[in-house]
Amino acid sequence: MLNKKSIEDINVKGKKVLVRCDFNVPLKDGEITDDSRLVGAMPTIKYLIENGAKVILCSHLGKPKGEPKPELSLEPVAKKLSEMLGKDVVFAADDNVVGENAKKAVSEMKDSDVVLLQNTRYRKEETKNEENFSKELASLAEIFVNDAFGTAHRAHCSTVGCGEFLQERVCGYLIQKELDFLGSAVENPKRPLVAILGGAKVSDKLGVINNLLDKVDTLIIGGGMAYTFLKALGHEVGNSLLEADRIDYVKEMMKKAEEKGVKLLLPVDVTYADKFGENETPYVSEGRDIPADKEGLDIGPKSAKLFADEVKSANTVVWNGPMGVFEFKNFAKGTEAVAKALAESNAVTIIGGGDSAAAVNQMGYGDKMSHISTGGGASLEFLEGKQLPGIAALDDK
Ligand code: AMP
Repeated sequence: MLNKKSIEDINVKGKKVLVRCDFNVPLKDGEITDDSRLVGAMPTIKYLIENGAKVILCSHLGKPKGEPKPELSLEPVAKKLSEMLGKDVVFAADDNVVGENAKKAVSEMKDSDVVLLQNTRYRKEETKNEENFSKELASLAEIFVNDAFGTAHRAHCSTVGCGEFLQERVCGYLIQKELDFLGSAVENPKRPLVAILGGAKVSDKLGVINNLLDKVDTLIIGGGMAYTFLKALGHEVGNSLLEADRIDYVKEMMKKAEEKGVKLLLPVDVTYADKFGENETPYVSEGRDIPADKEGLDIGPKSAKLFADEVKSANTVVWNGPMGVFEFKNFAKGTEAVAKALAESNAVTIIGGGDSAAAVNQMGYGDKMSHISTGGGASLEFLEGKQLPGIAALDDK
């Protein structure tokens, strides 16, 4: 799955290239409030422009659920891209995405021109990967470039289907970088490889835990999911998040870790509160037991040190999921300590999208990490060892 052709492996000069980007940007009153996804897409778009391709961009935005929703139009993205590229990006405002505007704009393209299609999810066929819309998209171009890692775990017309009807299917720089970092971390890491998992639920990460136990030297578990592990060891977890129906699974995973010789680190103390709330007073437990009427909202300071020390001896670290309710200042310390340990480490540090990416950026450590994945769901599926359809569909080298 890792040895995929990229834009640099093919000739794009004079070719019509359909590029699936991730332009799923946050909008407020028609204004883009965070353009980091557009910034992330620039290297691929610029490469194609510089190499004389006719660049046809497409993306989804939000969830219009298969019908045109003016507030989810990609028009503001076209404007912003024009500014960023310093050249006109023609917006093809077709409610059916591949309509008269798109066809006309594409037929008038010269080398290095850029056209942006309307939100692909205006079409109900998109998320069902139906052939008719895939063919319509493909009819505009000769080559398919996928550069949207955030949707690479979905088989849609614009991520998978259209490529089947085009001459070549390759990845752009964003996907290439994800494959380089996530791929090598899982398949060929510099050891020791330490994975840190947190976040709310064990059940969201069953496959990840299982797959990582086959790969890592150390697995660290924090966040809400740790309480199910602590309960499985017979500890009192009070009112903390607990998935009682996963206790057997967790026991099985602890056994697997032992059999595989994987060091499994769980919190040794807990920061808890009277109840879930932003302004609750934080208390620290002596050991792993939490008073019966209290709720664990973060790992404790001893655990933070234990986890940070483990990171120090790692050569590769993969982190997915916060250590506690980092959105609340009083319960962000564990997540902050882990973020800081990664930032100070010389290891290859990889943040698996979603909440941990938000936490790392919010705490100002973003630029200290080797790689922050652009897809939460996709990076989790990657760590589960699953084939991502949007990557599997690309041509092998
Ligand atoms: P996830 O999307 O599974 O990565 O979970 C992230 C969410 O888990 C964040 O919003 C955190 O606030 C939440 N979380 C982490 N630790 C805890 C905890 N101990 N209790 C409740 N929620 C938690």
